[in-house]
Amino acid sequence: MTVSTEKLASLREELGRVSDVRSAIALLHWDQEVNMPPKGAPARGEQLATLSAIAHRMFTDPALGDGLKELADGGGLGADDGKLVEETLYDYERATKLPESFVHTFAEEQSKAYVAWVEAREKADFALFCPHLETMVDLLRQKADFLGYEGSPYNALLEDYERGMTVEQLTGLFAELATKQSDLVERIVQAPSQPDTAWTEQEWDPQKQWDFTLRVLGDMGYDMEAGRQDKSIHPFTTNFDLYDVRVTTRVNPKELFSALTGSIHEGGHALYEQGFRDADRRTVLAEAPSLGIHESQSRMWENMVGRSLPFWKHYAPQFRKQFPGQLDSVTHEQFHEAINLVRPSFIRVEADECTYNLHVILRFELETALIEGDLEAAGVPEAWNAKVKSYLGLEVPNDALGCLQDIHWSHGSMGYFPTYALGNLYAAQLFEKMLEDVPDMRARVEQGDFRPLLDWLRRNVHVHGRRKTAVEIVRDVSGREPSAEAYLNYLERKYSALYGLQP
Ligand code: ZN
Repeated sequence: MTVSTEKLASLREELGRVSDVRSAIALLHWDQEVNMPPKGAPARGEQLATLSAIAHRMFTDPALGDGLKELADGGGLGADDGKLVEETLYDYERATKLPESFVHTFAEEQSKAYVAWVEAREKADFALFCPHLETMVDLLRQKADFLGYEGSPYNALLEDYERGMTVEQLTGLFAELATKQSDLVERIVQAPSQPDTAWTEQEWDPQKQWDFTLRVLGDMGYDMEAGRQDKSIHPFTTNFDLYDVRVTTRVNPKELFSALTGSIHEGGHALYEQGFRDADRRTVLAEAPSLGIHESQSRMWENMVGRSLPFWKHYAPQFRKQFPGQLDSVTHEQFHEAINLVRPSFIRVEADECTYNLHVILRFELETALIEGDLEAAGVPEAWNAKVKSYLGLEVPNDALGCLQDIHWSHGSMGYFPTYALGNLYAAQLFEKMLEDVPDMRARVEQGDFRPLLDWLRRNVHVHGRRKTAVEIVRDVSGREPSAEAYLNYLERKYSALYGLQP
């Protein structure tokens, strides 16, 4: 063994231990959402705080940093080892930029803000949350200063979720989306032929819904021997290892499609996590490079596959059989229309594909204004409502249906929302190229065969882990920089056909 192979081996061992502790943390979080009895919450909070502190201490150990720098400076590493060192060093430097006292204060304020937000939302009373939002914005500005940035301080926050993305880039992308998607929504709302979806207003047996989600997850290629599905209030995906990737969904007897679309969405995330390389286990390389690219996988499966006509041609007979007497005369076209119904609404998480990005864009605009000092926390409700009026044509009746609906700001997560819209854009740009590479994709989906789709994603996206950035993945696949073009074309084609719109 040469010196650097020895060092590398001990580095991998140490990083493996950090990864083990983080996986234990993730498992405790999963348990908290899925199994834990309510009275377990205080103890769970302590357990998580202790383990998080241990993981942080292990990872920010100066000896680990020195080892990484030596390996990076020494050169002569192979491509994979070089990337491992480079990516880990990036994380290390970011983790050590924030002073411990700041991390502590931030965590304390997060808990207070969260409690206040829950109450404020319940009472639809922004005034209860306002001082906490003000504190959070102050802390986030400090955080940006610690981390460093060029241009807007918001860029430092974006870096946590979508590395390399900037306010400058997003402003251009989002301006185009906002104009064109608002216009599309207006044309849809005014279209003379609106689908009749009265038949969806029935009670749907929860067990039958649940069973159907499992069937579709299996068909998608989700490995149930290396994963499982449970129920939780908010659907999510988590992983403790390549061979233990779990999803959750929620079942509502009044909603025919929400468990199914939730499962397909999380299934898309899970297939990504099951697609990393075995050799990358317990390292940062077995991770997605950004939230936006992760979201591209869930949205591609949910919307471009699960809300497509070929998908419903395949599943309509099975779906009718699953709910006998309730759907007997419903055609695959009607399923397709109902699952793609466009209706401007107040709540982001319930929004359809055409309005979804508009919800994201208004949050991005408010966040940047707050962080850049152009908007005070107290001005948020008024600014929010004005944007909802202008983008969605709706009057917000109260703040629970407006600026208090999302949990993100109470966590101090600003810079997160844009990744949802980027996920849509990346998904469309990747999907366009996939249809070129695999011309019979739609015919295969119509037969319930998702293998070519999954194989393509494995090869072009999943297998890279963090070896490439999100932008590099999209650029290498499509030959173009990420843009709004593919997504806007996708929406225009799909919804023109659904609503009989004139181009
Ligand atoms: Zn998602």
